[in-house]
Amino acid sequence: MKFVGAHVSIAGGVENAPENAHFIGATAFAMFTKNQRQWTAAPYGPGNIAAFKENCRKYGYTPAQILPHDGYLINLGQPDPVKRQAAQAAFMDEMERCRQLGLAKLNFHPGSHINKISEAECLSLIAESVRLAVDQVPEVMAVIENTAGQGSNLGYSFEQLGELIRLIDRPGKVGVCLDTCHTFAAGYDLRDEGFEMTMKHFAKYVGFEYLAGMHLNDAKAGCASHLDRHESLGKGTLGWPVFERIMADPRFDGIPLILETVDPDLWPDEIAHLKAAAK
Ligand SMILES: [Zn+2]
Ligand SMILES: [Zn+2]
Repeated sequence: MKFVGAHVSIAGGVENAPENAHFIGATAFAMFTKNQRQWTAAPYGPGNIAAFKENCRKYGYTPAQILPHDGYLINLGQPDPVKRQAAQAAFMDEMERCRQLGLAKLNFHPGSHINKISEAECLSLIAESVRLAVDQVPEVMAVIENTAGQGSNLGYSFEQLGELIRLIDRPGKVGVCLDTCHTFAAGYDLRDEGFEMTMKHFAKYVGFEYLAGMHLNDAKAGCASHLDRHESLGKGTLGWPVFERIMADPRFDGIPLILETVDPDLWPDEIAHLKAAAK
């Protein structure tokens, strides 16, 4: 069973996300737990939480179909200890918000060494930050998103994702979200025979048992461009065959498959096309 949707708005309250997803024909959705460009937000009221759960029930979304995304300001590998503590607190708050909503996963960007420490040092800081969070909120799995390798962002290779999982050392509390645009931009070809080679590599260094979600995005730039530029499905350098192939592959069953493509007006059509290709 494939669950497919998009990253929908929480404008007016987190409880509006399930309805926004329903209106575009989605069977999965992603959302921010709060305004993604601010450090703090008011806690949810009991009304928000009850309405979110009620709307999920009404429109048929279970926690397996929902993949919340953390805010853009959080860098769990921040070299400065004071700033890192702020990032850890913000991440913890998002984990707690997921728990309150009854959700099981929180998708996050690993972090960046901002050219102040080595990659290895940064990976161990990220691991420590994630461990703190999952120990505090064990109900929610921390889901590492792979990156395009832009700037000093880590998590661009499957080896690095595997190393992070090993360093976090909390089996069952950590997963991985593969973004197709980031994967391709990081240098893994997903077209034609590249697809199976990439998946073999993923199976070897991470493992499909860790795959907790996917972001389905076409790419504006080429393979190994290291540019994080999403495009609508079929309009970029990846093309529809990649996404049709994912929809027909049982390795991607039962996890949220989320569009973060550039034109929300196209989401209903993109979702319908993906559903038609599903097996
Ligand atoms: Zn992301
Ligand atoms: Zn991206």
